[in-house]
Amino acid sequence: ERLRKISLGNWILIGMILGCLFGLFLNFYVSDSFIKQIIFIDNIFYLGGDCFIKLMKMLVVPLVFCSIVVGVASISDVRKIGSIGGTTIIFYLITTAVAVTIALLIAMAIKPGVGLNLAGVATSANVTVNQTVPDAILNMIPDNPIASLATGDMLPVIIFGVLLGIILAKLREETQLVNDMFSQGNLIMMEMTSIVMKFAPIGVFCLMARTFAGLGFEGIIPLGKYVMCVIVALVVQAFVVYPMLLVVFTRLNPIKFFRRFFSVMLFAFSSSTSNATIPLNMEKLSEMGVSRDVSSFTIPLGATINMDGTSIMQGCAVMFAAQAYGMDLGISALITVVFTAVMASVGTAGVPSVGLVTLNMVFSSVGLPVDAIAIIMGIDHILDMIRTAVNVTGDAICTIIVSFRNNELDRDVFNGKKEPENLD
Ligand code: ASP
Repeated sequence: ERLRKISLGNWILIGMILGCLFGLFLNFYVSDSFIKQIIFIDNIFYLGGDCFIKLMKMLVVPLVFCSIVVGVASISDVRKIGSIGGTTIIFYLITTAVAVTIALLIAMAIKPGVGLNLAGVATSANVTVNQTVPDAILNMIPDNPIASLATGDMLPVIIFGVLLGIILAKLREETQLVNDMFSQGNLIMMEMTSIVMKFAPIGVFCLMARTFAGLGFEGIIPLGKYVMCVIVALVVQAFVVYPMLLVVFTRLNPIKFFRRFFSVMLFAFSSSTSNATIPLNMEKLSEMGVSRDVSSFTIPLGATINMDGTSIMQGCAVMFAAQAYGMDLGISALITVVFTAVMASVGTAGVPSVGLVTLNMVFSSVGLPVDAIAIIMGIDHILDMIRTAVNVTGDAICTIIVSFRNNELDRDVFNGKKEPENLD
């Protein structure tokens, strides 16, 4: 009964700690390479770890494709609410691009992956990415969308998905059946993701054990640096970028915002899902004087298409892996990362750990071996909690700015000089 009460997130944490300890034990105390290498590393851990990674990889193409199509088809509804919808989407996309750029810069400075030689441990892959910018753009257009889907070539898949979404929105009446098919496909893939995640504790145990059996203590410092990197970037986004945007666009006091919004951040932190935070987020914004007409559209939309915190984790993870594999990411690869991370943020709903699944697609877009995700997966739960709090803050900040600029925000209510009207 007690074991059942432990949440999945905590199980993953337990799997990670035990895997880490067991790996270190093998590294230090078991010198017999038959037991260490042949039994554990090459068989048990290899099977358990790679089985989980393959299950995750299996989800990526159908999950991202369906949700991009559904997401874009619903975004195109914005014409209904006119300019507010357009500005909100532009704000959402730009803040996510800024977030991932900050993450890349911070990771370049902290260099979390340097010193962790992964090329010999988890995989033998060693790809160098060297593409010119025009080539990178050309490669985004699929020669054959079915071939791109089949090979999991994510950028062309995204482009095709976006086009399909736009057309489905345009022909909504005539294509209702196909629309429903994609919506239901999306639902099915979300359910499948949550089932696969149930295996995460075992998968994480095996992956951590394998890594640490090979690396020993050498692996701990880079991992710690990676966590630090993500947290620093998240803090910069939440407490530097957002307040700056608020001041520049509205001249409202960010301290007043954070004082009232803190409970929403806490809820997002503890639940790790922006979707579940939607009602509380809207409620708080009403208390701050934002019109429900705006927030009832922008907050659910933001929970789906705006994940600044998630894209920060992805930016740091890409740099971490590239450094650990000794790969040099050129400017076009970095632009590809920004683009794919923004698309990954558009293409998935705000539920726990989904950022890890779409991380596969960001890695593949620049030819990074997805095995590296294994290393960071163990400590992802705590980062998921923090980045979800940033995700919901981004939605609220954009909503306040857009409302303010469209006279849908009562400044007196925001400043606490007047009681909010029509609260539910
Ligand atoms: N848990 C995040 C959210 O709901 C998504 C993720 O980064 O995995 O916003």
